[in-house]
This record gives sequence, structure tokens and C-alpha cells, in this order.
Amino acid sequence: MSADLRLEELAARLSPGALVTDADVVGAHSSDKALFCPTGTALGLVRAAAVDDVVAVMRFATEHRIPVVTQGARTGLSGAANAVDGALLINVAKMDSVLDIDEVEQTCRVQPGVINQDLKNVLAERGLSYPPDPGSVAISTIGGNVATNAGGMCCVKYGVTKDYVRALTVVLADGTVTKLGRQTAKGVAGLDLAALFVGSEGTLGVIVEITLALRPLLTPPLTGVAVFPDMESAGHTVSAFMASGAAPSMLELMDGATVAMINDYGDFGLPDGAGALLLVQSDAAGPTAVAELEAFQTIAEAQGAAEVFFSDDPADSEMFVAARRAVSPAMERYVGAHGGGELIDDVCIPRSRLGEFFARLSEIDARYDVEVATAGHAGDGNMHPSVLFDASDEESIAAAKAAFAEIMALGLELGGTITGEHGVGYLKRDWLVRELDEGARLLQTRIKESVDPLGLLNPGKMLG
Ligand SMILES: Cc1cc2nc3c(=O)[nH]c(=O)nc-3n(C[C@H](O)[C@H](O)[C@H](O)COP(=O)(O)OP(=O)(O)OC[C@H]3O[C@@H](n4cnc5c(N)ncnc54)[C@H](O)[C@@H]3O)c2cc1C
Repeated sequence: MSADLRLEELAARLSPGALVTDADVVGAHSSDKALFCPTGTALGLVRAAAVDDVVAVMRFATEHRIPVVTQGARTGLSGAANAVDGALLINVAKMDSVLDIDEVEQTCRVQPGVINQDLKNVLAERGLSYPPDPGSVAISTIGGNVATNAGGMCCVKYGVTKDYVRALTVVLADGTVTKLGRQTAKGVAGLDLAALFVGSEGTLGVIVEITLALRPLLTPPLTGVAVFPDMESAGHTVSAFMASGAAPSMLELMDGATVAMINDYGDFGLPDGAGALLLVQSDAAGPTAVAELEAFQTIAEAQGAAEVFFSDDPADSEMFVAARRAVSPAMERYVGAHGGGELIDDVCIPRSRLGEFFARLSEIDARYDVEVATAGHAGDGNMHPSVLFDASDEESIAAAKAAFAEIMALGLELGGTITGEHGVGYLKRDWLVRELDEGARLLQTRIKESVDPLGLLNPGKMLG
């Protein structure tokens, strides 16, 4: 049967208009935000409107041995949502309803296409919150967040996506619909298969419904800013502060280059000329928050901070958080005017070794003819050194790739991981092999083969 006839057969099984084969539209949906990741040519794009559409695609894909790539909002930074040749793309962004909010259980059930911030807004009206807050909070989907186990700024205190996933409904490669996990606060019946799907990057099944644990609305925090002469002293401050038993609700770091880019981008009240800056928040009750930030100040000053200041004014707090959220657009603007190339790394380092990491990172920066600008979730040790380069120059591209690789090697050497939250996708699949030992590699491959025996789901990503 020709490819056209096969697709006509698929279209007849789907919601009206769900299948798009226009090459321009399919092409425009064929990649995420990562650089240097292959983008294949897909057969078509299915804008799933309901679970039945996903089931129909998976049955059809199994019958005809067609690969399938699931997509949310394609904000991923590892190429995990990129098309592969001859694949069907299933985009679930239209499945975007909040199905139920259970105030007694403090859970909600949502479809995968709900945008994280939209969910937060709906929950706030009911006095509830869903803490995980990736930088892409306003544009990424909950399904994508689950499939990448997304993190964010509040994770130092409130954990990452996996800590909130109670249950999932997934469509398996052969079209079987199954419920994994549990709706209740506790439950230990059988292997934790819902956890297996968290962070699976579309390689095990399509997530079509999610039950999330919630929290009461978070308390407005007290916010502090510490300005350092260099990244090492900021790194040592993070280590010492966390060792003191502190429980900040945010602890973010930006290097001097990043702060300068933000100040060029807009006025967020950040000081000029900083070598590094830590943004800290405490949402502990009453005087505990003040005590926590005073302890932070003592530690930061002992490590050489030039200036530390606090505010309990919610407007200040919002402005500083907005400054941190401005890292991506500010860097994008800078990169646009300086060669156009940006490779964002995502290593996660043991917090005790951050000072050492920054010292070695500046050596890498000096060794290559690229610029490295770093921001990150310091409280978790999750750093995003961005390697900035001239995208029109082969030598600069090669230098950027080499520096990017050295940063991952450094992360592993210091006992960390190649990716704290952005995932493996295409970008880091060769590095996953280096991070896992032989037993773990075998186990991961066997699990993939048993759940997706025909290898149809997101082939070539993560496990290669
Ligand atoms: C400006 C910016 C800031 C960012 N900040 C952060 C951050 O702070 N923390 C962080 O963790 N990430 C961050 N990211 C990365 C990205 O936003 C996250 O990985 C996000 O979770 C991806 O969601 P998405 O809906 O865009 O998924 P996509 O990019 O569409 O897909 C990502 C992966 O999930 C799979 N997938 C998507 N939906 C499903 C589904 N329903 N079922 C099965 N598999 C699925 C895809 O196949 C792919 O493997 C940032 C990205 C940008 C552009």
C-alpha cells in the first residue's frame, strides 16, 4: 500500500482534521529548541484531540511498523521531540483540560497538553498549588514536564515533577490504554511503573492523563540577593549554607556575564559589575524566614560577598524572580548580536563541590575560543553553563562542542550527572552511555525492549 493510501486509512480513524500532512506544517513541528540535533522528515502530524486519537495512531503505527514521536509544546532542550524519518508526530497540546480538582486528596487530574502556568492559575483560585516551575512554565505542557521530569527554581525545597506524579494513564506502543500508579496518598502495590514513565522522554508510551499531588498555596517568601566578586565564592556560599541545615525555597545563581546580559535586557534592580549573584528565598513561617536569610548573609559575607540585601516586599520579590526568568530571553538577545550560537548545558554537581566546579569551568572557558555564561539552580547543584559561539564559523562550532563535552565530563568527574532536568534526547545520548554502568545500561535497554518490542516509540532518543 502506498504511503498516501496508508495515511488516508489513518485519517479515517481519527477525529476530523487531526491528521496534517502539509510538508510545511509538519516541518515546522519537527524540532524542539535544541541545537545540533538531527531533525528527520516525518510522514505526518496528528493533533490528537482525544485519547482515541492516540490509540488509533499507536494501533496504526504497530500494524505498519511506523515510528512515533510524541510532542507537547516542543520547548525541550535535548532534541527529544524532534522528528525521525518516516515517523508520525503525535502532538497532544490540544488535549489541555483540567479534568478534576480533588480538594480532599489535594490532587488534580489533567490532560497532558495543559500548560504548567495555566494549571497553577486554576489551582490558585482554589487555594492550591502545583510547585514545579521550569523556566518554561508559561509555555511547556504538564505532559512534557512529566516526560522529562522537569525541575525549576522551587525544586530545592519542593522537589521536581516526579515528586508530584501520583498516577498516569498511558497508551502503549500497541494501543493498549493502561493506568499506572495510584490516586491515593500512599500505595505500594507492585512495581512503581508510573515512576518509570516519568522522565522516559516519549520512549515508553504516550501519557494521556496525569494525576498530580498538590500543596496548599505557598507562603509569600522573603527574598535576598548576594553579590560576589567571583563564582567560586558564590559556590562555597551555597555549600556552606546548605550544610547549615537551611531549607531555602529558592537558591539561584547567575554569573557576572549573565547579570550583565539581564541588565542590558531590562531594569530588574540587579547591581552592575557583579562577578556572581545569588538569589535566595525563604518561605518559612514568620521569624524563621528572617533567621534563615540572616544566616545566609553571615555565610555569604564570610565567603567574600560584597553586598547582601533582603526584602519582604512582594513587588521586589517578583522583580528578582523576573530577573532570573529573564536569563533565557536576555541571553537569546545577546547571542543574536554575538554570533548566534548557544549550547545550554545542564550538569548537576554535588553541592559540596560547586566551588571546585566553577574554578574548573573557568579553565574550560579560558581554553576555548568561546564564551561561557552560567546560571542555574544552585540549591540543587544544577548548573546551566551556556556555551556561546559564532554559529557561522566551523572552528567556533567545533570549539563550542568540545567545551560543552568537557563540561559534561567535569560534571561526571565531580560525581554529578550530565543532565539535571533537560533530559538526554539526541543531544546527550552518547553521554548517557558514559554515565551509566554496564548493569544499568543493560537494564534500561531490556526495559525499553519489553515495553516497546518493535522499537516504535521515539527511536534513537535517550537510549540510542
Ligand atoms: C526558556 C526555557 C526554559 C527552560 N527551563 C527549564 C527548567 O527550568 N527546567 C526544566 O526541567 N526544563 C526547562 N526547559 C526545558 C523544557 O521546557 C522542559 O523539558 C519541558 O518539560 C518540555 O515540555 P514540552 O511540553 O515542551 O515537551 P516537548 O519538548 O514537546 O517534549 C519533551 C519530551 O517529552 C516527550 N513528551 C511530551 N509530551 C509527552 C506525552 N504526553 N507523553 C509522552 N511523552 C511526551 C517528548 O517525546 C520529548 O521526549 C526550558 C526550556 C526553555 C525553552
